[in-house]
Amino acid sequence: MMPEPSAPTRLTLDAEALAANWRTLDRLSGTAAAGAAIKADAYGTGARRAASVLREAGCRAFFVAHWSEAEEVRDLLAPGELSVLHGPLTADDVAFARASGVRPVLNSLEQVTRWVEAGGGPCDLMVDTGINRLGLPLEALSAPIVGQLTVEVLLSHLASAEAESPLNEVQRKRWDQARAVIPHNRASLANSAGIMRGPAYHGDLTRPGLALYGGVPCEALAGLIRQVARPEAAILQVRSLSAGDTVGYNETFTATAPMRVGVVALGYADGYLRCWSNQGHFRANGSALPVLGRVSMDMTVVDLTDCPDLAEGDWIAADYELPEAARRSGLSQYELLTLLGRRFAR
Ligand SMILES: *Cc1c(COP(=O)(O)O)cnc(C)c1O
Repeated sequence: MMPEPSAPTRLTLDAEALAANWRTLDRLSGTAAAGAAIKADAYGTGARRAASVLREAGCRAFFVAHWSEAEEVRDLLAPGELSVLHGPLTADDVAFARASGVRPVLNSLEQVTRWVEAGGGPCDLMVDTGINRLGLPLEALSAPIVGQLTVEVLLSHLASAEAESPLNEVQRKRWDQARAVIPHNRASLANSAGIMRGPAYHGDLTRPGLALYGGVPCEALAGLIRQVARPEAAILQVRSLSAGDTVGYNETFTATAPMRVGVVALGYADGYLRCWSNQGHFRANGSALPVLGRVSMDMTVVDLTDCPDLAEGDWIAADYELPEAARRSGLSQYELLTLLGRRFAR
């Protein structure tokens, strides 16, 4: 057998922290059960792994965005546990849903019609209560064809759950109105931050995403959520710099004294963006290793002064604790996670 070359870049997933975060969010959801948004490859952490861990923790409702994402994980879940947020856009989507038991989230009268005319079956229904993204407006709920649906989960989605916006209450009241009009089995409104708005926002099912994976979207969750994903990379080479030597493209770092540096196999093609140039840190044995110069496509250079024992082939971790990394980089916690590229071994 051909030996497999190893990846110099890996994303470690702390399965225990992921499970603990779900249990925390499930507890904070009160009488509602917490589901899980696992779209976009579970926010970049690896959907199959995350789905298994979350199901093992007790999660029984999963949401992806694309139909292809449903196909990726559905063998890990029981029938009826998976919904596709984008809904059925084509006859093939409808046929896949009906054959697989993956529920479509119907978002428009067009989608409702497409579903009913193909024979229907259990579905989810998204009501737009003010985000103006996907979902039927309240006025459309009285359309006769909507009355033909078998609605398992009646959903809406908050635009500013993490902020003190009057729109939150407006949306909650409209969602309550929808619940009164549309027969359904379960009702769901809250994302991660929405859970912290209190019991009136919980309904029967909550849909956290970000906080499962270590994101802290609002102050109320600070201290309750554990870091889950850690980008790590191997040192490809160790170099010795003399005073006056510069590092990387466009010479944005100049050594002022002799120093030891490491060239790490992580770059912007992996989602470690150029905003970390001369800003980011890696960590090994408790010491911080500052990024020197520009991040390039496949490599980043770090200062090894505080870790004289590190050598070629050793692994170091990028500082990537999400709330702090978002403050430092100007990227959102969502972006920081979903950027992490395909070259990571997950
Ligand atoms: C992505 C998404 C979620 C999860 O939101 P977070 O802010 O990541 O917790 C919940 N519901 C819908 C409809 C979504 O698109």
